[in-house]
Amino acid sequence: MSSYVSSLDISFEFFPPSTEAGHEKLMRTRDALAERDPRFFSVTYGAGGSTQARTTQTVQAVRECGIDTAPHLSCIGSDKSTLRQLLADYRQTGIRKLVALRGDLPSGMGVPGELRYANELVEFIREETGDHFEIAVAGYPESHPQAPSFERDLENFVRKVKAGADVAITQYFFNPEAYYHFVERATAMGVEVPIVPGIMPITNYTKLARFSDACGADIPRWIRKQLEAYGDDSESIRAFGEEVISRLCQRLLDDGAPGLHFYTLNQADATLKVLDNLS
Ligand code: FAD
Repeated sequence: MSSYVSSLDISFEFFPPSTEAGHEKLMRTRDALAERDPRFFSVTYGAGGSTQARTTQTVQAVRECGIDTAPHLSCIGSDKSTLRQLLADYRQTGIRKLVALRGDLPSGMGVPGELRYANELVEFIREETGDHFEIAVAGYPESHPQAPSFERDLENFVRKVKAGADVAITQYFFNPEAYYHFVERATAMGVEVPIVPGIMPITNYTKLARFSDACGADIPRWIRKQLEAYGDDSESIRAFGEEVISRLCQRLLDDGAPGLHFYTLNQADATLKVLDNLS
């Protein structure tokens, strides 16, 4: 069931590498993924100063291939004048897309800043730059880990979209029902923008388990058990991961998801294999 996917609305997320070797690898990953005609690439942003300059540099390097590249921008730990300057710089260099987030402060570091939540950042971007940027925000089909309840988190999501977002990208999930439920509820509350599923390819169980605990994504028991059983057999983990994620993506697309956003972790192979399996 291998076919080249070109008409699909896809995007790929990268993180800013910290070494020259990491940068070179990212450029190879970008080139391999660029062949799949993505709508955009995006580059994550570290709150609290850890990777902010690297995000800007990485965005400029990634977009040299001619594909729109969206910097992620988080407001926690920042102030309005810093954000204003960053927006002006992005605008001046021709950036048209942003992923707007509250972000997380590294534990024990820094103070929250002038804008407390992503809805305030979206409002600020609109006030400062009008319609210049296409703004994406984050959605959490299984609830944000700090949210007191699903309902409260959904209200906060709706507020953030209504502040001026053009699209939402979800946290990754493995249970499509959680996504359908989230989309249905958000739509019933007046959200009209596309809600694009975030997809995490499975390549390494230990890292996946750690990430998932931190961001509140549920790994269903049957997947967890199977991955645990493979132990150090990374080939079997990858093969099983490819099958699970390909099926998830196919189902989401068949059921009308508006596109797919891949958390690539700067690796091309796992994402390309999933794309090759889609019909
Ligand atoms: P918010 O929408 O502000 O929500 C944060 C919490 O506050 C939620 O519990 C929400 O229910 C609550 N809340 C929201 N608004 C209000 C309000 N007005 N009043 C009271 N409570 C409120 N992190 C990074 O550091 N860098 C990145 O580049 C990055 N990229 C990401 C990309 C995607 C697609 C996703 C899904 C996540 C990304 N993250 C990134 C993680 C994200 O920063 C964290 O999940 C963070 O904890 C929340 O950011 P947010 O924009 O969703 O926050």
